[in-house]
Amino acid sequence: MSFLLTCPNCGVREVTDFGFGGEISPRPKGQPSFRELNTYNYFRVNKAGVQREWWFHRSGCRAWFIAERNTVTNEVLFTALASEVPDQADPNSQATVAAGEAGGDLL
Ligand SMILES: [Zn+2]
Repeated sequence: MSFLLTCPNCGVREVTDFGFGGEISPRPKGQPSFRELNTYNYFRVNKAGVQREWWFHRSGCRAWFIAERNTVTNEVLFTALASEVPDQADPNSQATVAAGEAGGDLL
């Protein structure tokens, strides 16, 4: 399994240049219960289809960025820094808002 990713700073690179940071999960609001915090930390949707994910350019500029990728075909629909992500294009816009609030410190 190999595909190309476009780093917002460096351009197109092999996926082996990057570290996978996981799917974007909505961060709990306010003072979360133990169950909400546990769900946020340990449960993932593991979607077969298009999802937004965190990626880290470990062999390049070392920036964290967001990619929207089809997990079935590995087609990458877009990549952007967290501050530049278009909210309207996301089918899971709630997750995007949470990611923006997180400021990339999820991992
Ligand atoms: Zn880069």
